[in-house]
Amino acid sequence: AEEVGGGDKEVVKDYFNKSGFERWKKIYGETDDVNRVQRDIRLGHSKTVENVMKMLTDEGPLQGVTVCDAGCGTGCLAIPLAKEGALVTATDISAAMVAEAEKQAREQLDLGKEGISLPKFEVSDLESLEGKYDTVVCLDVLIHYPQSKADGMIAHLASLAENRLLLSFAPKTFYYDILKRIGEFFPGPSKATRAYLHSEADVERALEKVGWRIRKRGLTTTQFYFSRLIEAVPA
Ligand code: SAM
Repeated sequence: AEEVGGGDKEVVKDYFNKSGFERWKKIYGETDDVNRVQRDIRLGHSKTVENVMKMLTDEGPLQGVTVCDAGCGTGCLAIPLAKEGALVTATDISAAMVAEAEKQAREQLDLGKEGISLPKFEVSDLESLEGKYDTVVCLDVLIHYPQSKADGMIAHLASLAENRLLLSFAPKTFYYDILKRIGEFFPGPSKATRAYLHSEADVERALEKVGWRIRKRGLTTTQFYFSRLIEAVPA
C-alpha cells in the first residue's frame, strides 16, 4: 500500500496526505529524528532551494515578481521567495502539505514588514492551475510521474509562465539508473515511493515542443539525492 506509481495521481495525493506527509515534513524540517539517508536528502534538497534562489535573483530582484510554486510541499521555497518580496502563489495536490506550508509561512515571515506578503496557498494539482505568472517553479515533483505524464505537465507549467520556468528532476544518468535498479532489488523501509527518473534530453524535448529552450542548468548531488535543475525561457 506504500507503493506509489503508475502515474496514479490519486495514489500520489493520498500518499502525500498521509505517510508521505509525515515522512517529507520530517525530511524538509529541522528536527533530529531523521536517519542518515533522510539527513542526506535534507541537505541535498536545501542545496537545490539555494540554487533556485540564486538562479532567480541573478536575473534581478524578486520584489513584486509573481511566482507560482507548483507542488510547494511544506513551503521550503515559497517562504524564501516571499522573504525576497515575491508575490507567491503556492499550490500542492496535498491539503496536508498546503496547510503545513501556510503554518510555517505565518511563523517565519515578517508580515508586518513592507513588501513582504503571505503567499496565496491553494490545494490544486499542477495540471489544474490557471492564470499567468512571471515565473513558475516546480521542484522535485516530476519524480512521481513517468515521462509520458511529465510531458503534459511541463507543457502546462510553461503555459502559465510569462518569462521563465524552473524545474528540477532526478536525472536519468547511467550511474543513477543503476543505483535505482539496485534500490529496487533491496527496497528498504525508507523507500516509500516509487521514483521516476527523467532524461534531460526528454525534458528538453518536451520544452522545445511548446517553444521553450533551456537557458541555465544546475545539478545538485549528495550521496542519496540527485537533482537536475533547469531554467527554461521562451525560445
Ligand atoms: N516542491 C517542494 C520542495 O521542493 O520542497 C516539495 C517536493 S515533494 C518531493 C513533492 C510534492 O509534490 C509533494 O508535496 C506532493 O504532494 C506534490 N505533488 C505530487 N504530485 C503533484 C501534482 N500532480 N500536482 C501538484 N503537486 C503534486
